Amino acid sequence: MTAKSEPFSVSFEYFPPKSDEMERQLWQTVEELSVWEPDFITMTYGAGGSTKEPTLTAVKRMIGELHLPTAAHLTCVDASRDETRAVIEDFRAAGVRRIVALRGDPATGIGTAYAPHPQGYSRTADLVRALVEYGDFDISVSAYPEKHPESPDIDADIETLKSKADAGAHRALTQFFFDNDVFERYLEKARAAGIAIPIVPGIMPIQNLAQLKRFARRCGASVPPFLDARLEGLDEKPEERAEVAADIAAEQIEDLIRRGIHDFHIYTMNRVPLVEAVMKRLGRGQAAAPRIAAA
Ligand code: FAD
Repeated sequence: MTAKSEPFSVSFEYFPPKSDEMERQLWQTVEELSVWEPDFITMTYGAGGSTKEPTLTAVKRMIGELHLPTAAHLTCVDASRDETRAVIEDFRAAGVRRIVALRGDPATGIGTAYAPHPQGYSRTADLVRALVEYGDFDISVSAYPEKHPESPDIDADIETLKSKADAGAHRALTQFFFDNDVFERYLEKARAAGIAIPIVPGIMPIQNLAQLKRFARRCGASVPPFLDARLEGLDEKPEERAEVAADIAAEQIEDLIRRGIHDFHIYTMNRVPLVEAVMKRLGRGQAAAPRIAAA
């Protein structure tokens, strides 16, 4: 059996829109990508210092109107425990049963020291424990195959992941990476440390290499030279560039499937074409029509 014909599952990550145009694009993307039948979709939280509203508004629609299995991301940034619990209650009232639980980035910006709210959760594991107390949430957490920038070393990072798994997380979704050997080594270390939950690779189809490099620098992910080599000279050839970018992501997933991985979390950047091209290359079956109709 080739890697292509093996079954695999996907989840798609979206972020809340910041303008009417972005809103239109989000719902069109959610609709069009629904034909690929993701196990669940996720909506990020708190980007650029925003609060719960954009996430809550989006997940309300995803769940209440579109009936899509949706996970709301939730961070501890700038919130007391009472405030975080109030957000959890709001999510629950909107029908949210899946949460991606995160500490979040410092409100003062990535790279500055994280200062927890004096009455807030200081560690993600504490937030996970609070969610477990509610009883009926499916809880995902983050994982960093190349370590989180604040971790002194990979062992410290694995310890953090273990604390989250021990607190009751059901799976980890990773930061994006491009070197599957790095992921495999991380997975082995995690298993050796007694972490048994699924660790789902985060796959970032490359929309724009220059932007990706800037983002990767901030979040401690590396961009291997082979990406430059493959995408070199294609800046002015968007169609060719998109083909190569889709090949890169599909080849990464195929290789991971050969290594025994069957679940993938895909960073969609709220755009259809590249994700669609990746799914097609993987021979993924699709529903005859979108599962939903965006208004
Ligand atoms: P954790 O994994 O809990 O911790 C990361 C590292 O920080 C640890 O390894 C440790 O080195 C250090 N650390 C944390 N707590 C302590 C402590 N108490 N004492 C000492 N060291 C500590 N950000 C958003 O703002 N919104 C989102 O929706 C969002 N979604 C994400 C989804 C995924 C799949 C991933 C991988 C990341 C996401 N992020 C998001 C980014 C994330 O918030 C940042 O990377 C943040 O800096 C760490 O949050 P975390 O929950 O991943 O941290």
